[in-house]
Amino acid sequence: MTNANLFVALRGGFPADLDAVAVETVDTPSALAYTWRDLDRASAMVANLIDSLDLPAQSRVAVQVDKSVEALVLYLAVLRAGHVFLPLNNAYQAAEIEYFVGNAEPALVVCTPKAFPWLSKIAFRAGTIHVFTLGDDRTGSLLERAAQHADVHEPAVRGDDDLAAILYTSGTTGRSKGAMLTHGNLRSNAQVLKDFWGWRTGGTRGGPEGRDTLIHALPIFHVHGLFVACHGALLAGAKMLWLNRFDPRAVVARLPEASVFMGVPTLYVRLLAEPGLTAEACRGMRLFISGSAPLLLETFEAWRARTGHVILERYGMSETVMLTSNPYRPEAARRGGTVGPALPGVGLRVVGDDGTARPPGEVGHIQVRGPNVFKGYWRMPEKTAEEFTADGWFRTGDVGKVEADGFCTIVGRSKDLVITGGYNVYPAEIEGFLNALPGVAESAVVGVPHPDFGEAVIAVVVARPGATAPEPAALIGALKGRIAGFKVPKFVEVVTELPRNAMGKVQKNLLRERHRGLFGGGA
Ligand code: AMP
Repeated sequence: MTNANLFVALRGGFPADLDAVAVETVDTPSALAYTWRDLDRASAMVANLIDSLDLPAQSRVAVQVDKSVEALVLYLAVLRAGHVFLPLNNAYQAAEIEYFVGNAEPALVVCTPKAFPWLSKIAFRAGTIHVFTLGDDRTGSLLERAAQHADVHEPAVRGDDDLAAILYTSGTTGRSKGAMLTHGNLRSNAQVLKDFWGWRTGGTRGGPEGRDTLIHALPIFHVHGLFVACHGALLAGAKMLWLNRFDPRAVVARLPEASVFMGVPTLYVRLLAEPGLTAEACRGMRLFISGSAPLLLETFEAWRARTGHVILERYGMSETVMLTSNPYRPEAARRGGTVGPALPGVGLRVVGDDGTARPPGEVGHIQVRGPNVFKGYWRMPEKTAEEFTADGWFRTGDVGKVEADGFCTIVGRSKDLVITGGYNVYPAEIEGFLNALPGVAESAVVGVPHPDFGEAVIAVVVARPGATAPEPAALIGALKGRIAGFKVPKFVEVVTELPRNAMGKVQKNLLRERHRGLFGGGA
């Protein structure tokens, strides 16, 4: 029987030369280099420590720590020991942690030394038996205890259908749900992406000739930084230049040594503000990938003009890992504003409110299926059943369209759709018109309660830095005559910044909240 444990697949991607550098830190007080052997030995020691705790099979291991290479080692160790990794956004505070720990009932919790006094109390109250600490400077009880264990470890045997991780969705409405991902989900997706994005695995030593070098600047509590980025690099035996915190200047400084970069759109915007970002700095780069939130066409074009590279935009979510990608080659086939066709093995369809297929180019609900689609929401069988169709497709909650040639465009989340006077308004369409107006950098369109129309369209607009701030009345005037009256925002607010979460997603729920009393409806 072959072992379907994801760790075994990732370990199989390590280069033959285990003494080559696997990860080099960029922003620790002094640069640290971890070889492939270090990753193997350290994850074995932590896995042996976890084994020694005699946890029930498939225990959840909840982790809220600052980003560090050791946090990645902990992830590998949890896989290796056959338990279920449950990463938590480090912005979460006590009330949120209480919910997650109560809901997931982890047998082991790992937190920062600073959070230990309050977080351990929550965990022990919820029945967790072990709480260890891990600082981003290699301090804490986890590594102290692991140091006493052997540095070889036989990975636990797991099947494709066994759980590898639970990711709690950002949950902007209602309680956050735990998406259960299996070894099969994560491994199949990682392998598809390895081939599709042409990860370079040639040669036996790291370095630009034979293998890729990835700049890793994303958080690792999320699908993008943890699965897409880390799995990609580990499976390809690619070196990672590792930043615990995103710093545009530091990224630009290391670009000449790198070949792959992954970012959320806000990271690209911040990199564009760096004068050092030039075609010359990007000379060794072969791939810039963006996802997790929509990339503005303007950023896509500014990036091409400045660096000569076309950003590859892809689309995915916690429940499904990656679903679509713009083509890898030729670069010119990548289309700004789209997320590309479905990845090999992924089924993607667009249906109307009645569940019937929409013709190419028409907007509807996106549904998907494939070996990458999760097993369901943790301890929410009814919610899981609701989100799958009778014929087994997962309702993504995203609204979009697919052209005849398979290219997919995301229009927004279905819950962000505005229904005003019985008409559907897709925020992305109005945002596109607003963004093209002078003085506008970006915008967010939401619906708020309205006594006559049910909902009214309103817009929050970010003024372009350095330009005269646009007048709300002028923006509304400019849209009138260009788009149907019911789509024109009834109110425009000009701000300096949109509220975003750690992954760069605009928090439209906060905007709706802020303006819900505007028309006296539902205040
Ligand atoms: P999460 O589960 O936190 O990764 O959020 C997934 C959601 O992010 C998706 O359902 C989409 O709404 C959004 N998303 C991810 N990638 C893109 C993209 N390239 N363009 C637009 N929205 C995206």
